[in-house]
Amino acid sequence: MINIVLFGPPGSGKGTQAQNLIEKFNLKQVSTGDLFRFNMKNDTELGKLAKSYIDKGELVPDQVTTDMLIDELRKPTDTNGFIFDGYPRTVAQTEALERIVKEELNDKIDICLSLIVDDQILVERLLKRGETSGRTDDSNEEIIQNRIKEYYAKTAEVAELYKQQGKYIEVNGVGGIDEISEKLFAEVEKIK
Ligand code: AMP
Repeated sequence: MINIVLFGPPGSGKGTQAQNLIEKFNLKQVSTGDLFRFNMKNDTELGKLAKSYIDKGELVPDQVTTDMLIDELRKPTDTNGFIFDGYPRTVAQTEALERIVKEELNDKIDICLSLIVDDQILVERLLKRGETSGRTDDSNEEIIQNRIKEYYAKTAEVAELYKQQGKYIEVNGVGGIDEISEKLFAEVEKIK
């Protein structure tokens, strides 16, 4: 199995690159943002709770997010591994992920691929995506700025933990989509 954490600030292209990686290596994408949006669309209790945070650009509390992730990992799949997109976003989630992958899959995280993009480009990309995505958290600059602020306050330090484990790889997230994918593919090939 290959288990990848796809890391980077909002708007760095994690979702887009996850799509290419899952096709190339037959992996399952687990996006906590997508799971929350599914719950919001279906107006579940979890969706209502998540919405109260997402609409402000804040992180949803660790426990609910992690419980949702565990449920997703328990679903049967015949893929070669997982791509975690948008999780972990805190130190507590990083520790939880290590434990969960061990307990549920009897496996480990192999690599953390980090997409590097300047803040100014992130804001431009998110506002542009907001024109078509229908995502309320993409269409307002104040919410976007708060998401970036949350990233630096709570998420950026996750990179340090993967660095300490020798699993952290940075890739320039600005350029053509396929060009960036090729760089990510090359890093995954190295650990296969
Ligand atoms: P994303 O689609 O990954 O940008 O996530 C959209 C929003 O969902 C984030 O701004 C958070 O409010 C929430 N969210 C997604 N993943 C997590 C997570 N791992 N921990 C906490 N909140 C999350």
